[in-house]
This record gives sequence, C-alpha cells and structure tokens, in this order.
Amino acid sequence: MHPKAKIVATLGPSTNNVEMIGALIDAGVDIFRINFSYGTYDEHTETINNVRRIAEEKDKLVAILQDICGPKIRIRGLDKRMDVERGERLLMSKHPSKEAFSITHPELIDSMMEGEDIFFADGTVHARIIDKNESSLTLEILTPGTLAEGKGVNLPDTILSLGALTDKDRKDLQFGAKIGVDFVAISFVSHENDIKEARRIVKESGGDPWIIAKIERKNALERIDPIIDSSDAIMVARGDLGAEVGFFRVPLLQKDIIQKCNCKAKPVITATQMLTSMVDSPYPTRAEVSDIANAVLDGTDAVMLSDETAVGEYPLKAVGVLKKTIIQTQESCELHGKREPGTREAFPYAAAEMSKLIPCEFLAALTLSGYTVRHLSRFRPQKNIYAITTNPSLVRKTTIIWGVVKCVAIKDFKNEKELTLKFLKEAGLGPSAFILVTGYLGEKIFQGKSVRYINRCDIQPDMKS
Ligand code: PGA
Ligand code: MN
Repeated sequence: MHPKAKIVATLGPSTNNVEMIGALIDAGVDIFRINFSYGTYDEHTETINNVRRIAEEKDKLVAILQDICGPKIRIRGLDKRMDVERGERLLMSKHPSKEAFSITHPELIDSMMEGEDIFFADGTVHARIIDKNESSLTLEILTPGTLAEGKGVNLPDTILSLGALTDKDRKDLQFGAKIGVDFVAISFVSHENDIKEARRIVKESGGDPWIIAKIERKNALERIDPIIDSSDAIMVARGDLGAEVGFFRVPLLQKDIIQKCNCKAKPVITATQMLTSMVDSPYPTRAEVSDIANAVLDGTDAVMLSDETAVGEYPLKAVGVLKKTIIQTQESCELHGKREPGTREAFPYAAAEMSKLIPCEFLAALTLSGYTVRHLSRFRPQKNIYAITTNPSLVRKTTIIWGVVKCVAIKDFKNEKELTLKFLKEAGLGPSAFILVTGYLGEKIFQGKSVRYINRCDIQPDMKS
C-alpha cells in the first residue's frame, strides 16, 4: 500500500552519499530537501546529480526541494557557552566585545525597541529589552537556558527592515533555477511580495520550480491568505514558528494553516521535530508517532524530517516510522475532503464522489499546470490518483500532492483511446477500470472538461493489439 501523505527527508552528513540516497528512496522518500544554510554549489550540484541519477535507475519519481536559509539571525561574538539565569542582565551590541555579544545582521539592533521580546536557541531562552542606547541593548532574562555562538535569535515583536531574501538567497535562487530544482522553499516569509520577488528571480534565471512559503514568522500569520494564494505550496515550519509565537500556539496554527491550504488545494508540508528522539534512538516515542498521525489527520500533504535524516544515526528507520504511521493512520480512518467544492471544482469533486460509487481501481487527472490533480486530491479520494500531463516539468512536482502515486508525461494524443493506451503503458498498468477527470488539457479532444468512466472491457482488446 502507498502512503498517501508524502515523505520529505533532508540530506546531510548522515545521508548525502550514493548508498544512502538509494536506500532512502527504497524506504519511501518522495522529496529530498537540500538545506542551503550549508554547503557549496559544487557540493549541491553533486548531490542533485546523484539524486537524479539514482531515481532514474530505480525508475522512481523523486523530487528536489531547495531550502534557502533567508535572514536567519544568529548569536555572534560569544566565545564560550553561557548559562543564563532568570533576572540576569546581558548586553547585546552592534560591536561584540568582552562585555557584549552581537548578532548576525547587527544593523537590526537599530529597529529593536525597549519592551520588545527576544528569543534565543530555538525559543528556549526568553529575554526582554529593558534599555536601549545608541549601539547596544540591555536584556533581562525571563526564561533561563544556554546561549552559544551560532544559536538562533527570534525577534517576533520587531518590525524588521530585512526582506525575506538576502543577497545569498538571490544567488541561491538563481543557482536552483538553473540546475532545475523542483521546489524552492523560502524561509522567513512575511509578506506575499517575498514570494512574488522569489518567483521573479527564478523566472529570470529560466527556472519554474514550485515556490513554497515557510510559515515561521509572526507577521506571516497576519497575511496568511495572500501568502497561500501567491505560493505553490506551504510549509508549517514549526521550529522557528514555535520560537516566534510560543510553542503552545503551534498545534492550533498547524491545524488552521493545513485547513486553509486544503481548502485552496495548495499542498502543505508539516515540518520539524517530527521524530527528534530518533536522531540518536532507533525507536520513536509514542508522542512522536501521535504527532505524525495527527498531522496526517489534520490533512497535511507531506511530513518532513530534518536532523533525523541529515545528522541522525537512524535515518532509514525514521523514514520507516513515518511510512508505517501514515499507512496505519490512513487505513483506519477516512480522511475527509472536508470542504465544499467551489464552482471551478465541479469536475474533480464529481470524480472523487463517483469513485465511491463505481467499481474502479484508481482515478486519473489530465492536467497541464497541476490544477486539476491538486483539486482532485483536495477531496481526498480513497483510491490512488494518477496524473497525466503533456508538461514534463510538472511530473516530479506531483510528488508533493497527497494521494498521487505517479505522474506520466505523454507528448501528445489525438483521441481518448490513444490517451488511455499511452497512459496505461507508461504507468506500467494493465487494462484497468478507472475514472478520468480532464482539465483544460483535455478540452480539445473531449470538447470541454469532463469526468469519464473508462471501462476495462472497452480497452482490453486494444491493449492486446
Ligand atoms: P529550518 O526551517 O529548519 O530551515 O529552520 C524549519 C523550521 O523552522 O521549522
Ligand atoms: Mn526555520
């Protein structure tokens, strides 16, 4: 049985080699994430070429997600780890010294104001700005913990003068567009214009990856609808999101964002700390398995592993746990396409409904941009979904869509019979009974959009010849 929710795994020192990439594909990885916070372009080129080659050898559809790091703010100028106590006062300055530490992007200190909160080290240390002078801030620690060089800094209250794209990000986008990544994830998006800007850059470099907005900033939540509308997919980036809004808001935000994405038929990835304990343990905790199952029940299209596969000791086991949890959850529970269809969705909706009534083996969507197959997936049919397209650049992108088991590219077709036969052959399927929903791509031969029932008996004689 295929897991309907998809698996994203981050490559890193534990897995970025030919053997492990192959083993991870066998274990069920649909999408490899490459974290552009680390590594050189030469290294990324080699990784991407390896993934492409191994996937092709295995005849598996596997996509590449380029994650660009954005203006991640980190502690700078702290030469040793520092345990800080509640009530302790610290100096943060544009210029690090014996008395004061600084941050990457020290110019941001100008935008920080007295009374604002600052979080360090993944949100574990909470401080408040109690005084400000020209180039430094006095902080008071509210929640104690450990600070160290390179630990993350989150400024949920501060109106940042930084856009989501740094100079490095722009170069990374151009690199990714040229080498042909399938998805690019934009970190620290705060406005839909960040997505539009990224799209302009990749277009200018001749690429057309799907653009994923990582929701991890407080102000992204205020513009969540236009951000979803201008993105091709969304990532609920629970790490930085938890640091910015507080851990305790993350569960409901996850549910809300997933529901919004489902309603708009935009694929959504749930990310971060899904199996943290498996970084150094061969077994998950019950709580982690429940978290994965709950993300699936919330309606996520994909779940993601970060450290678990990048630096963890048990990357293959972690992928195995995701796969088992997804399958078990989808088997014992009907995942509702809880949502009223919009007027443009009549055909995919009808196809999903028909698949419950008519004996059929699977559904297929004829789609050019992915619109028809996304909107079919949105109604969460129980049967597998195939995508058929004339657009080769869509093929690997369908790996992020819930329930899609395969996408085949067909150069062209003259009539329904030719389309059906070419599709079944390419997909490695025998004579099958299935429901076909067609979008604009089918209008020429079907005289408009349609939902059709393809009967096994009708095609059997032609398949033999
Ligand atoms: P990151 O994004 O791992 O690139 O920080 C994910 C997150 O913040 O959850
Ligand atoms: Mn993040």
